[in-house]
Amino acid sequence: MEKKTYHNLHPQSMCPAFGGLRVLSRIEGARVCLVADQGCLYGLTFVSHFYAARRSIVSPELMNVQISGGTMIDDVRATIDEIASDPSVTFIPVVSTCVAETAGIPEELLPERAGNARVALVRLPAFQIKTHPEAKDVTVANLLKRFGDFDAPKHRKSLVLIGEIFPVDAMATGSVLQRIGVESVISIPAGDLDDYVEAARAGACAVLHPFYEKTAELLRERGMRIVSGNPVGAGATGEWIKRVGEALDLDRTRVREVAEEEKARAAGVVAKFDGVSGAVIVAGYEGNELPVVRLLLEAGLDVPYASTSIARTPLGEEDHQLLSMLGTEIRYRKYLEEDMQAVEEYEPDLVIGTTSLDSFAKERGIPAIYYTNNISARPLFFAAGAGTVLGMVAGLLGRKEAFRKMKEYFTLP
Ligand code: SF4
Repeated sequence: MEKKTYHNLHPQSMCPAFGGLRVLSRIEGARVCLVADQGCLYGLTFVSHFYAARRSIVSPELMNVQISGGTMIDDVRATIDEIASDPSVTFIPVVSTCVAETAGIPEELLPERAGNARVALVRLPAFQIKTHPEAKDVTVANLLKRFGDFDAPKHRKSLVLIGEIFPVDAMATGSVLQRIGVESVISIPAGDLDDYVEAARAGACAVLHPFYEKTAELLRERGMRIVSGNPVGAGATGEWIKRVGEALDLDRTRVREVAEEEKARAAGVVAKFDGVSGAVIVAGYEGNELPVVRLLLEAGLDVPYASTSIARTPLGEEDHQLLSMLGTEIRYRKYLEEDMQAVEEYEPDLVIGTTSLDSFAKERGIPAIYYTNNISARPLFFAAGAGTVLGMVAGLLGRKEAFRKMKEYFTLP
């Protein structure tokens, strides 16, 4: 197939507001009031039902006449009252999006409470927040700032985990943390608003994904110790456990023992994939792609190119340095066209990408899977996560010939 030069036209992210809606609509008792135009409402209702909590979103009718006619704030207040007339609603997040007038909605004109519900404004305009992962960060930081009980006495041996993870990873993480002496763990984004209140009392915070910059900054400013990294792959698993132990001042011997044990278990799993080889391109838009690349590199695979929707951040800098040193070309704020160009240039054996990139790769007979459905829907942490992800990748690399034959079959003579 002829190679061509692409022009960067399609930045890759879902609508940023979706990231916030995902966090907010999963909170028990929450009913979102979306202040947006009809087009946004249609799209966001659709994706929220697929990828968030399958809850309805309520919105004031905002046509040109309301937006330009000065009645918008009254319409929003009336909608809040209507939502609050249901006594089971305990939290009304008011989400404003891209339309300039809705983005600038004055918070002081909104009530703090309505009926049984607390009300909070979360601004998520895409012209300011570029991607849906970063909108999750803005939302979490907003909730912690508003509801976190930072003045209450601290729980010195309690840890906040920031970042959505697969349920099995949450269980594995909880069990390891218990073994090193962590007394309680609060996972954010949480399904209960009280967890945001409580999170502010923890002794330290482990930020599992690199895009939670605003959240980390807020907690750091309030005196909490921040642990970066995540237990993905052998080396990072041992290191992460030690960092948590240090941040919470836990028993050093115990922490070292558990760290070595978990590191050895993960290394044992990674070693089982010694014979697997191939070039893999990782090009998701979830913001947590680089640890996956790190795991693949640790298993001896070649990752010539990786891309993500988020910006380069200090929390992801360690991975950036390591991956660059090992030869991976990394693109932040990537465009679909950059990913396509990389597929043509590197001709990989497997693509773990967005749906659009996957179609592009499959047309060329290259096995390709959707990052979000395959990586985010599997364990990734500790030995079990390494085994699951590497097992899947090894299986797909073995199917290259099947994809080649399929392409041949469908290619007209
Ligand atoms: S206009 Fe903004 S809020 Fe609406 S769908 Fe597009 S990116 Fe999302």
